[in-house]
Amino acid sequence: MTILVTGMHGSIGSRVATKLVEAGHRVRGSSRTPSSAPAGVEPVRLDLTEPRGAAEVLDGVETAFLYPVRGGSVDAFLEAARKAEVQHVVLLSSPASYEVHEHDRIIGLVHRAVERAVQESGLSHTVLYPSWLATNARRDWSEQIRTSGRVGIAHPDAQVNPIHIDDVAEVAADVLTRPTHRSRMLVLTGRESVSQRGMVDVLAEVRGAPIAIDELTREQALERRPEWMPEAVLEVLLDVTAAAVGVPATVTNMVERVTGHPSRTFREWAIAHRDAFR
Ligand code: NAP
Repeated sequence: MTILVTGMHGSIGSRVATKLVEAGHRVRGSSRTPSSAPAGVEPVRLDLTEPRGAAEVLDGVETAFLYPVRGGSVDAFLEAARKAEVQHVVLLSSPASYEVHEHDRIIGLVHRAVERAVQESGLSHTVLYPSWLATNARRDWSEQIRTSGRVGIAHPDAQVNPIHIDDVAEVAADVLTRPTHRSRMLVLTGRESVSQRGMVDVLAEVRGAPIAIDELTREQALERRPEWMPEAVLEVLLDVTAAAVGVPATVTNMVERVTGHPSRTFREWAIAHRDAFR
């Protein structure tokens, strides 16, 4: 059985590939720039929106992990997957596809477009909807915290449910390799709802030094927008967090049902990544 993991360099994709290799599966990993690969993974070049060579990449593939790519159609790739008789596709998506403040705006529309393509392909598939990735804390906060001991956050009392990407990867690896938990939607969350302020407290504790929160207005948050994030995306994220102030985030038992262990906590993630914050 060969499993194709697209995005083998991605935070989640690399973990999916590694977990599959560790479990003894044959894994083909793709990237648009496949110069290296996780240990034990056969590297191949693939752009999901430019599927030249897709037939070769899909040769002998039984199941495939897909990223929700932006800015192009994945129809031709899915048609090649159908012809290659791929038995099941696991698509990473986002609750932005259905959440009230997001589903009809940029983040939701991007994810829904890929979901629709997968659905219309006729391929058997499972869509994963992970909650707020704990890695966002490193992406959005670590540099400020490391350099100044402070972090600017709009709506710090907004609640999210941070999920450890190892849990997402474990679920993906399970669904790629056995039918038990395959279903249209798997809503994956961390173990508990926590405010952004609460997460900063955890980070302060595990790094052993205080972290001050500068509460940002919407305008200040937009002024500080990182270059890589489109303004329309930040606008949505600010609306989502504004609506989540004091509102507990969804908690599901899906990670535990699939993996047999409870979701990892944000504290566990923070302990493993504390060096990024000090
Ligand atoms: P990541 O590390 O940024 O990796 C993204 C991967 O997508 C890369 O490996 C990239 O591969 C691949 N990719 C992008 N465009 C592609 C294309 N045209 N063809 C083939 N591969 C392509 O992402 P991550 O951290 O693992 O996952 C982030 C994703 O999770 C978000 O984009 C979102 O969809 C979803 N999500 C995020 C959150 C959140 O809280 N942030 C919550 C729920 C869901 P190459 O560049 O190597 O080709």
